[in-house]
Formats: sequence, C-alpha cells, structure tokens
Amino acid sequence: MKISQQSLFKPFRKIANMGGGQAVILLYHRVIDLKPDPQELCVSPQHFREQLLFLKENYYLISAEEFADHLKNKRRFRPKSVLITFDDGYFDNFLYALPLLEESEAQAVFYITTSKLNTDEELWWDDLERIFIDRRSKPAALTLHVDGAKRRYDVRAESVLWKLYYELQNELRFSSPDKIDNVVDQLRKWSATPQKGRPSHRMLSYEELKKMAGSSSAVIGCHTHRHPALGMLPAGQQHQEIQQSKEILEDLLGKTISHFSYPFGARKFLGDKRYYNHDTIRIARELNFDMVCANYFGQVHRRSNRYVLPRMPVRDWGVDVFKEKMKEFFKG
Ligand SMILES: [Zn+2]
Repeated sequence: MKISQQSLFKPFRKIANMGGGQAVILLYHRVIDLKPDPQELCVSPQHFREQLLFLKENYYLISAEEFADHLKNKRRFRPKSVLITFDDGYFDNFLYALPLLEESEAQAVFYITTSKLNTDEELWWDDLERIFIDRRSKPAALTLHVDGAKRRYDVRAESVLWKLYYELQNELRFSSPDKIDNVVDQLRKWSATPQKGRPSHRMLSYEELKKMAGSSSAVIGCHTHRHPALGMLPAGQQHQEIQQSKEILEDLLGKTISHFSYPFGARKFLGDKRYYNHDTIRIARELNFDMVCANYFGQVHRRSNRYVLPRMPVRDWGVDVFKEKMKEFFKG
C-alpha cells in the first residue's frame, strides 16, 4: 500500500500542534504587473492589495519580532497568525509592495540577495530568461564549455531552445555561483545580450533599501550573496555566502540582521541534490539568526524548529482563489 507523506505525518503534526495555535508564513517575491513571468514570481499590485485586505479582515497579521518571540519562548500563537515574507530583493518590493503594506498597516520581512543590489544587472535566472525568450535571432549553433566538457547544440528549432532553457534552469540552480556566472556569460556572448539588464528586473538600490529599512512595514533579512543552492556547497563556502550578505546589509543599514531565508529552500530533492543540509542549519544557528525560513508546505507552532520554518508561496491569485488557498495552508 502506498502511503502519502502527507498522511504519514498527519498524526505527528496533530500532536505537535496541540500545544498552541498555528501560524502560517507566506512567501512572495515580486509585486508588479509583468508578462511573461515563467517563474511565476509576480503578483499584480491589484491582487496584492486585495490579498492584504482579505488577510487584514480574516487573519491576524503578526510582526516579525512577535513571531520570533513566540518561537524563542515557545509561546502559543494567536489563532490564524500570518507572517508575510518576500525573497530576493527586487526593486518593486520598494516601489509597489511597501506602500501597499504601509497602507494596510501590515509588515513583511524582506530577505535580500546582495550580489546585484544597486546595479543595473539581473539575477542569473532572469538573465537566462531574457537570453532565451528574446525573439531576436540567434546563431543556429551554440557551444557551451561546462565542467571541462564541450556541449554542442543546434538551436534552430524553437522547441530545442525551450527545452534547453528549462534544462539549464534545473542544472544551474544546483551549481556553484562560479559555474552559473561562467555559463550565463557564454550564453550572453553567444546571443549578444548586454550585461546591463532590463530595468523591469533590477534589484533594489541602496537608497531604496535604506528607505525600506526605515519603515515600520519592513524588516530586512538576508538571503545569501549570490543565491546558490547552499546544500551543494562545502560548509566553508556556505558560511561565506550567508555571512557576506549579512555583513553587507548590516554595514549599509547600521543594524543587526537577525532574519535569514535559504535560497530556493524546498525540501523536495532530485537524487543527491540539496537546497540546504545539516551544515546550513548549523551555520544559521551559529550566526545567531532569530529565525530562518525554508520553502515547504507546513504550519508553524510554538515548538517548531525556528531554523527551518515552512513557507507557502503565493501566486498571482485573485481574492477568491487566495481565500481557498489560505484555508488549505492552515489545514495541514
Ligand atoms: Zn530566492
């Protein structure tokens, strides 16, 4: 008999939840109207506004400080507690998300990847997107030098191009930052794509980030320097990636950064591929973060491990769909 993971863990989850109310952490990336959006990272400002209003009326929007305090002191959560979080640090977090949060007197934690802050460059998955989606004609032959081997592709057919796009997305997300930079660089040269990115895909500027940090609707956390799958790196490199983003933000903002989220952060693994591992969790503890978010389905209760918290990704849903999703998120 096949038992699903969900049903297998149900009794344990029930026991774990008995000691107090449950909370849910929502995961957003961008608030902006943008098409195409192949990674499904964008929620339109209109939908975000509706979602906030709905949360305000039907749930308890908890602050980051209060949330961490419940976990540290194993204090029972208020029923229907919801914490809003954002990953990566796109400019629209300041331009669109922050004003809407302020208008609703809500707060979110913004986890920032620091390597492309204050530049006109894009993060690697966006670079990959514009290289492949851009309709300008490209040379029919592509040669990539990867891991010491030569790979040759004939990309005249559009279907081949799309297949390659998804293959590279999957491969690079488990690769070292140096390999990612190297492959994207080769692709950029092949397609004559400039290093300068699209203004629609830039990260926050230092000024924007400082203004955000001054708002009571934003708490700034870190999300590594170059956004690697930490679980694929030796412990020393993991430490450096996390520490570097923490320090850059602390120097810029003049305050201690006590929140962190794992890049990608899912628990679903492909073979020996890992987004984070035991070393990652140990390092997060050593760096003294108040709480650390991952990215898998689950509710938070007062005895949850505050270094691997579950989160629920939110998509560009209208309020009717969002309402149903919120029910599912709390069901467990
Ligand atoms: Zn991320």
